[in-house]
Amino acid sequence: MPFTTPFADRLNNVETSAIRELFKLLGKPGIISFAGGFPDSNMFDVDGIREAVNAALTDNPGATLQYGATEGHPPLREQLAQFMASKGARGVAANDLIVTTGSQQALDLLGKTLISPGDKVIVEGPTFLATIQCFRLYGAELITVPVDGEGAQTDRLEALIAEHKPKFVYLIPTFGNPSGALTSLARRQAILQMAVKHDTLIVEDDPYGDLYFGDAPPPSLLALADSVPGARERLVHCGSLSKVLSPGLRVGWMVAPAELLAKATMCKQFSDAHTSTFAQATAEQYLKAGRMPGTLARVRQVYAERARAMCQALRRELGDAIEFVEPQGGLFVWARLTGAGGKVSDGAVFAKKAIEQGVAFVPGAPFYATQPEHATLRLSFATAPIDKIEEGIARLGRAL
Ligand code: PMP
Repeated sequence: MPFTTPFADRLNNVETSAIRELFKLLGKPGIISFAGGFPDSNMFDVDGIREAVNAALTDNPGATLQYGATEGHPPLREQLAQFMASKGARGVAANDLIVTTGSQQALDLLGKTLISPGDKVIVEGPTFLATIQCFRLYGAELITVPVDGEGAQTDRLEALIAEHKPKFVYLIPTFGNPSGALTSLARRQAILQMAVKHDTLIVEDDPYGDLYFGDAPPPSLLALADSVPGARERLVHCGSLSKVLSPGLRVGWMVAPAELLAKATMCKQFSDAHTSTFAQATAEQYLKAGRMPGTLARVRQVYAERARAMCQALRRELGDAIEFVEPQGGLFVWARLTGAGGKVSDGAVFAKKAIEQGVAFVPGAPFYATQPEHATLRLSFATAPIDKIEEGIARLGRAL
């Protein structure tokens, strides 16, 4: 018997992603994959997390295993406020944030609390695919602001805000997924000023800000907002332990104005009641033990080496057929096929050829909510060791 119950109308706004189709091919034996968005599981601080689990079960096992507050485990909220303060966001108190089940849930709660069908939301082009899908599920009409080597183009952004009066603007200012772009300090300040001037809510999604390779990036919008009167009231900041500690823990958080936080908490209550107390208590113990700075130093170094190796190999093997800005952090190289010498210039066509040669990456077009750029592609350098990166890029050269 076929399933005949009609699905909710909201599902008409989303489709299964082209990327998921590609992922089906990744099971081929011997494939070298630059396609995923995962951190390297070999980098997880297993000993540190084991100690944190033990501490969580020793210190207060009742709280660790019991239902908890929807807003989050209070000692973790304290630790997260301190973690953000250590990165310059000193004005954030534990009560200014809620813990979410990954930052993905924060994005969903924003959709749930703010988007009515037909509402306009500005996103970067390109942006995180799951955000596109999530906001569309709530009926958002997405408008794209282009991204260049300095992040979202703020002149265009201001014009789009004035024209469309969006419900909010969603940005990944630091090592965006997929663009890897780093928004400059001047543009960050311009974004905060336009938030106040146009009374527009800005959402800063920041899961990659800790993964920098050289100098620290400019402070987050959240850290800068304290020096721009009125900006904190118009800013949401989403953080996550996924890329630096463990995505399996599913611990993220959202800093937002009190009124929005209250509505998001209400929606979360009906959704998952609270983020796993076990995971939260583990994260709290981990942060409390002071292991994070050492872990960050370790992952930054490994990813920096892999990013450098990938960029060198791309220049060597693909030459002028590809252009990219060497990433200063994050997990991705975002590149554009130039078509030089009559070579392939469509990311999706190239991805198929690459799979035939035993190497995978993700074509860039699906990361655009509107006006896809078909020549783009995203390569993750995070999970493959350097010899595999070199071999994989050599295969890409052959595919070209
Ligand atoms: N935002 C961005 C930009 C991401 O790349 C990701 C993960 N790929 C997330 C949010 C969600 O991460 P998590 O739910 O694991 O915190």
